[in-house]
Amino acid sequence: MSDERPVQFTVKKKIPASTGKVGIVHYSNICVSSAKIGNLSEHSFRQIRSAIAVHQLQSSEAACKSNICRNVPDQFNPDVHGVHWECYRNFTNVADLTVDVPTEAVRV
Ligand SMILES: [Zn+2]
Repeated sequence: MSDERPVQFTVKKKIPASTGKVGIVHYSNICVSSAKIGNLSEHSFRQIRSAIAVHQLQSSEAACKSNICRNVPDQFNPDVHGVHWECYRNFTNVADLTVDVPTEAVRV
């Protein structure tokens, strides 16, 4: 009896490199573009979308962040879209902005 084992070929699946992901929220003034892009969840994406709604109601150009909002896609693709968490935190931190958004619309 031989103890020979069949040769196994391990097929390595090619996982897309993390560099293939695109950060959808980015502050060029507080963040370096080489920052690690984190995985974005559906929930976090919704946080971004609702933050956009708040930002776009701002009258000042600085608070409006239109150059950032413009880069955020309408449809979330987890394979492609990611975020810099530093940028994400800043962008979704809209508590200080005054808006008339019904709280029901924000509640999950
Ligand atoms: Zn960034």
